[in-house]
Amino acid sequence: MESWEHPIDTGEAPEDGSHFDVIVVGGGPGGSAAAAYNALKGNKVLLIEKDVWPRDKPCGDAVGGKSLSHVEELGVLPMIQATPYYQVDSIVFGSANGSQVRVMLPEESYEAKGLMSGYALPRVQFDYMMFKRGAELVRENGGSVIQGFSVNEVLAEEEEGGSKIIGVSGKSGGRRSDNPILSFTASVTIGAGGYNCPVSRKIVELHDEPHKDNEHFCGGYREYWENVSGLEGGTGPIEIHFIDEVLPGYFWLFPVKEGVVNVGIGMLISEQRKQKGMKKSLKQIQKWVIEEHPRFKERFSGSRLVPGSEKGWQLPFGSPRKNAPSFQPRRGAMAGAMSVGDAASLVDPFSGEGIGNALLTAKMTSVHFDKSLHSDGFPEGAAAEYMEDLWNELGGELSNSTKLQRMMKMKRLTNWFVKRASKKPEIGEMMSEMIASKETQRALWSPWFLFKTLVLP
Ligand SMILES: Cc1cc2nc3c(=O)[nH]c(=O)nc-3n(C[C@H](O)[C@H](O)[C@H](O)COP(=O)(O)OP(=O)(O)OC[C@H]3O[C@@H](n4cnc5c(N)ncnc54)[C@H](O)[C@@H]3O)c2cc1C
Repeated sequence: MESWEHPIDTGEAPEDGSHFDVIVVGGGPGGSAAAAYNALKGNKVLLIEKDVWPRDKPCGDAVGGKSLSHVEELGVLPMIQATPYYQVDSIVFGSANGSQVRVMLPEESYEAKGLMSGYALPRVQFDYMMFKRGAELVRENGGSVIQGFSVNEVLAEEEEGGSKIIGVSGKSGGRRSDNPILSFTASVTIGAGGYNCPVSRKIVELHDEPHKDNEHFCGGYREYWENVSGLEGGTGPIEIHFIDEVLPGYFWLFPVKEGVVNVGIGMLISEQRKQKGMKKSLKQIQKWVIEEHPRFKERFSGSRLVPGSEKGWQLPFGSPRKNAPSFQPRRGAMAGAMSVGDAASLVDPFSGEGIGNALLTAKMTSVHFDKSLHSDGFPEGAAAEYMEDLWNELGGELSNSTKLQRMMKMKRLTNWFVKRASKKPEIGEMMSEMIASKETQRALWSPWFLFKTLVLP
């Protein structure tokens, strides 16, 4: 048994009715980090996860530099480095007409220059270590952790000027189990339950605002394959291909350790709906690409699908909503509650990365919550400050990525861009820095910068 397949001992569940400073619903990367950061500030935390470790989560498994800086801060980096992982040194971009460019990433330089390279490793492994460390810090600081406990209800009460979230209730062993319902209360409840988080749903429901929006939700599908040709080693590129059948999404090949590649497809749900009748589910499209696409079928001819690895999921994008009824990208906090990561709809709409923003917002909750100031409950004003701070921090890059995502719908432009990048090294460098440095992302939208880099010989 591998080190990340052992059960994690999280101790006894707290008694029904127990009170905490912070309750965190969901033990994915966002929830584990929110629990860890809040525990490190001396808060008594309850971390609740509905699954039991080890548990899988469909993903591309790429952990970029933004994530790695938090992983390091929380002491998880050495745990990852002691297990097999793939060191990403570059990204290969392929366009619909077959042009390809390999963009090198700055090796190990995320510490030195604020530039970011990354790792790739199966989420079952990454999440295990995040949860283990989060649980350890929670328990060291007087809190509790429960696995296999599903939050079914988010408790709210009326107060002057509106409602306030006061805690959660749920059961061990799933909704239909005979186990007793237990309730817990806290000064603040953090929603980290992913794209369908009960806390984030409650926040928008109480404000009569929408939760899901197909224009901003993406479908994702992944499988693991062994021995895909061209991606054999433990260090090298990850590949992103903008092929006709998947535009405006992409087909990816991300190795996760020697000999194993995460292969998947992502596409906006609204675009998928438009394609109905033509091509079918993401799973069927992927099957066709692997078996019949002239550029890929050879590469898969000697490979093998890892049985049971076929899984679909949803990605809630952080693209700004048109006519948002309140906060961008969606109301993600209120009196008594904040949400983080996918629960706050923060996946990058161009790259599909969501782990970094989950970890970043997890840390932000520990800055905005103060147990002595907020002992009577996290107030509405502090919730608004959290949402404003969040959009100040992430709004720029999420908006830029939305523009890039929309550009990729224009097939000719993508073809031209990738072809030009393969001929002009400065474009490759720009793409590398664009991924690694948020400063360059901003510069990208300067017309002079674009003209100089793309058009001038
Ligand atoms: C196909 C695909 C490919 C992706 N590729 C990448 C990539 O390469 N890189 C990247 O950075 N991001 C990628 N993402 C996005 C990334 O997976 C998410 O952004 C990330 O998992 C968000 O972390 P989170 O902690 O917010 O939510 P999650 O990882 O979804 O964790 C939520 C947790 O909450 C638990 N939970 C849910 N409901 C309850 C409940 N009622 N009670 C108790 N617990 C509950 C769940 O069991 C889960 O453990 C991809 C996503 C998909 C679908």
